[in-house]
Amino acid sequence: MQELTHYINGEHVKGTSGRFADVMNPATGEVQAKCPLASKEELDQAVAYAAAAQPKWAATNPQRRARVLMKLVDLLNRDMDKLAEALSREHGKTLPDAAGDVQRGLEVVEYCIGAPQLLKGEFTDSAGPGIDMYSMRQPLGVTAGITPFNFPAMIPMWMFAPAIACGNAFIMKPSERDPSVPLMLAELAEEAGLPKGILQIVNGDKEAVDAILYNDVVQSVGFVGSTPIAEYIYATGCAQGKRVQCFGGAKNHMIIMPDADMAQAADALVGAGYGAAGERCMAISVAVPVGDDTADRLIEELVPRIEKLKVGPYTAGADVDYGPVVTAAAKANIERLVQTGIDQGAKLVVDGRDFKLQGYEDGFFVGPHLFDHATKDMDIYTQEIFGPVLTCVRAQTYEEALGLAMDHEYGNGTAIFTRDGDAARDFANRVNVGMIGVNVPIPVPLAYHTFGGWKKSAFGDLNQHGPDAFKFYTRTKTVTARWPSGIKEGGEFSIPVME
Ligand code: NAD
Repeated sequence: MQELTHYINGEHVKGTSGRFADVMNPATGEVQAKCPLASKEELDQAVAYAAAAQPKWAATNPQRRARVLMKLVDLLNRDMDKLAEALSREHGKTLPDAAGDVQRGLEVVEYCIGAPQLLKGEFTDSAGPGIDMYSMRQPLGVTAGITPFNFPAMIPMWMFAPAIACGNAFIMKPSERDPSVPLMLAELAEEAGLPKGILQIVNGDKEAVDAILYNDVVQSVGFVGSTPIAEYIYATGCAQGKRVQCFGGAKNHMIIMPDADMAQAADALVGAGYGAAGERCMAISVAVPVGDDTADRLIEELVPRIEKLKVGPYTAGADVDYGPVVTAAAKANIERLVQTGIDQGAKLVVDGRDFKLQGYEDGFFVGPHLFDHATKDMDIYTQEIFGPVLTCVRAQTYEEALGLAMDHEYGNGTAIFTRDGDAARDFANRVNVGMIGVNVPIPVPLAYHTFGGWKKSAFGDLNQHGPDAFKFYTRTKTVTARWPSGIKEGGEFSIPVME
């Protein structure tokens, strides 16, 4: 059995806590590795290394720091296949989807090469007589991030790339379900020239997370994962005086207007609903057709597409649309929620409950499900299922459809499919959701815009990547400077006023 490590101060080190988590092969249901779960002492040790290394890194000019990221982009491209394979093996997603996971992280590393430009401060010449005023962005020091299982390459890169570009040291606590890719990323960063101690991987669970939250040296915490944990980390981190941003769960609605191209909408829904087995925070999990006629036409287009979906292990290559879910517990939770849908009266139009894959009977595969006639009080609508289950809630009017998206507690992403520019514009303006697609089902913003939801999908003031990341990972310092000789002629006792 492979025993994974931490990556601390430039070395792979074995866990010393004696506690481990099983890393599964979701396709076979077998345990393929043991992930060490760090103790508080192990986490504190990594923080001490980070604190020792960070001042020199912060003093390295931003252009040189950016060159390390430039080199990292080359190395990520060089090792793309290796990273994608390791990612699929632990997560279960298909190889092209795993490569996309690496690619969307790599694009944020590319964006962060612009650090010298992004970190430029502001300067006011002659703010007063003989007085200049300038603001600079300085790194926070030791920063930390806690990431989910579903994007084990992308989300770590979304956090550590801007953190280190700004001159911080970064401690990453990845998901214990698929920790290998984050370890590989830390190795690559060092190969690219990152000094030891600036990016460290400490594997673990709640104990390591709490050690981050209660370590006074750690200045900021980024989190991506489920909403209850996001709320806990936000509240605890803020109470400890840290800068915190937490991104939580989702229930993304896609509104289908009567004038939409129904074939296009159905194609979009199948990819966005079932891709990655529905284990994406930007997956569409709720379809809201407007009017019964629209709903009937949509269901007619959807059913044959869903029935044709190919479910299998990533090793089957291009012959697979989506793979297994991550753990037996995730599978059991999806099955439980599907049963509540049936019990509460939704119509199960496509039933994936009996799905079996020959040779992979112990894998965590879940067949595709489609519910129609769901209502807003049902558990399949209120709760995040995080599986290949699409729920159709029929609305009679556009206002009712908009109201559904607005009233839901989550507000990560949403989409509208229509040929009507007026409806699309109205929707984008009024809906209280962070990321909006217009005839685009998964509107994940590119690296140079920011990513973040509203309502219970995000906690904190700044989004991930884009210019917000450079604000999150720096503090502003503003200097008012005067060099006149007159200052030597006596003190000033009233508050300075610019004349
Ligand atoms: P999770 O909340 O179970 O775990 C996320 C991280 O928190 C992991 O590193 C885990 O070790 C840690 N953790 C788990 N329990 C903890 C506890 N009690 N105390 C402290 N730390 C704990 O989430 P997951 O299952 O890995 O990921 C899926 C969730 O993430 C979904 O809800 C999904 O919507 C969400 N997600 C959100 C975004 C976004 O940007 N909004 C992106 C990806 C995933």
